[in-house]
Amino acid sequence: MTASPISNPSVSAPYIEIDAVSKSYDGGRSVAVSNVSLDVQQGSLVALVGGSGSGKTTLLKTINRLVDPDVGEVRIDGVPVSEAEPPMLRRSIGYVFQGIGLFPHMRVADNIGVTLRLLGWQVNEIKARVAEMLDMVDLPQDYASRFPHMLSGGQRQRVGVARAIAARPRIVLMDEPLGALDPVTRDSLGSSYRKLHDRFGMTTLMVTHDIQEAALMADRIVVMKNGHVLADDTPHTLIMGSDDPDVAALMEVPRRQAERIAALATKNGAARA
Ligand code: ADP
Ligand code: MG
Repeated sequence: MTASPISNPSVSAPYIEIDAVSKSYDGGRSVAVSNVSLDVQQGSLVALVGGSGSGKTTLLKTINRLVDPDVGEVRIDGVPVSEAEPPMLRRSIGYVFQGIGLFPHMRVADNIGVTLRLLGWQVNEIKARVAEMLDMVDLPQDYASRFPHMLSGGQRQRVGVARAIAARPRIVLMDEPLGALDPVTRDSLGSSYRKLHDRFGMTTLMVTHDIQEAALMADRIVVMKNGHVLADDTPHTLIMGSDDPDVAALMEVPRRQAERIAALATKNGAARA
């Protein structure tokens, strides 16, 4: 007989609980999120995937109260976020904006240090943390004095990630953080982020429209469509198949691509031999 999940100490209580949350805009005419429940375990990296307009950004924003749900509740460590002051809550949760979202008139160092200043850190402490963060996201130290327009898109994304995690938040929300990057940069920033996430014991929710990225980076994939959750499982389970035709079609993509690449490698190898 196997142990029940309740008696298994490795199954911890959820850290972020999204409990039957709904949100519409335009006086109820536009339903963005419809009765979504989601548990996120501490230390996990969860990818939120789904087409444009499926409610991913809205759902993410209910966690740091950039959006308050019409119905339902979000809890962090058992405490409703509705009881927290939005500015305090936002300082304790890292947020990587959709698009780039750096302050254009601020130097890289000031962008990275913005939350630390709000938290009342001393100037020398901020300077040291900024230097550490630049190293961590593989940017040269002399970039600290540059303005965002003096960086490439990929470098700006790195600054966005550095800013979000500078205060070592326990929770990080990322909205398409790797969007609009070339594939090499995307892959390298993705794997550096996963390492940082594990090293600092962060809990991350990451919106991406790249299913392959989700499958390779995340512990769990949540698939959304029209404000609903269609699937919520490990990449392994989802890639093995799904009863839902939309989910099955979505997970077919990385599998077929992997098969085609593998076939290509074999064919080329045979031709060269
Ligand atoms: P996603 O991030 O998956 O693209 P969003 O959460 O941004 O989805 O949007 C979900 C739905 O809510 C869309 O139909 C969108 O047009 C609508 N929506 C999002 N934000 C607003 C807003 N501030 N005002 C009105 N409608 C919005
Ligand atoms: Mg979005």
